[in-house]
Amino acid sequence: MLSNKTAVVTGSTSGIGLAIARGLAKEGANIVINGLGDAGEIEAERAGIEKDFGVKCVYSPANMMKPDEIAGMIDLAQTEFGAVDILVNNAGIQHVAPVDEFPLDKWDAIIAINMSSAFHATRAALPGMKKKGWGRVINTASAHALVASPYKSAYVTAKHGIAGFTKTAALEVAQQGITVNAVCPGYVWTPLVEKQIPDTAKARGITEEQVKTDVMLAGQPTKEFVTVDQVAGFVVFLCSDAAASITGSILPIDGGWTAQ
Ligand code: NAD
Repeated sequence: MLSNKTAVVTGSTSGIGLAIARGLAKEGANIVINGLGDAGEIEAERAGIEKDFGVKCVYSPANMMKPDEIAGMIDLAQTEFGAVDILVNNAGIQHVAPVDEFPLDKWDAIIAINMSSAFHATRAALPGMKKKGWGRVINTASAHALVASPYKSAYVTAKHGIAGFTKTAALEVAQQGITVNAVCPGYVWTPLVEKQIPDTAKARGITEEQVKTDVMLAGQPTKEFVTVDQVAGFVVFLCSDAAASITGSILPIDGGWTAQ
């Protein structure tokens, strides 16, 4: 379905982003992966995508806190593959603390990585999409783009912000064959979720097991974590022709969380 297309997926060395990169590669897209981590492991993931799906895959080490590096990532994709047809703004981090104790550097990093990086990457990719008259921008937001939870002020702010950015960008390019949407997962079992369990336990004065059952899955009516492959499947659908009329949408995939 996506052969002759190129996809850039930010934050794709792990978790949801990696599953999205692999899901798009399975449909035939060439891929630019991006993210932090061990060089050997990243190279193994990159080579694995090429081997498993017969596409080309390059790695961009761009730091999503740095606008010039983000523009460089889009340049790299255009130089290697001639275009960026699909942009998935997925990189994200979390920090859990009460507002009055929230570290300033964490606030700035979360706003930069989880929100502003999507602006910088989309800004750089849209001219090429406009030229081709086709494009897909998909932002990994969160159920926290629609509702809040305590102790996640920077994250909830950034995710609500990305919902606003999604709607605005979608309106600007609605007549140019380009859709812009946000997918909003509930709790997905990934390293990002696993890492916040100790701090959440501390902030709430409960055990780590209680964080899983009483905090994370308490609000998720299915009582199941969403899987990375389910999110990837949703993103692949949004890249299809069947999804051409879905734009400016803030789309939950959250086991019923935001239905309540
Ligand atoms: P993860 O920690 O497994 O992956 C995060 C990715 O972002 C990694 O590849 C990491 O290297 C990359 N990254 C972090 N800082 C970066 C930086 N400065 N520059 C470039 N890359 C950077 O987390 P995940 O759970 O897969 O999260 C992916 C996205 O999904 C995030 O935007 C997150 O907010 C969102 N999300 C996750 C959940 C969940 O429950 N896991 C739920 C809703 C939304």
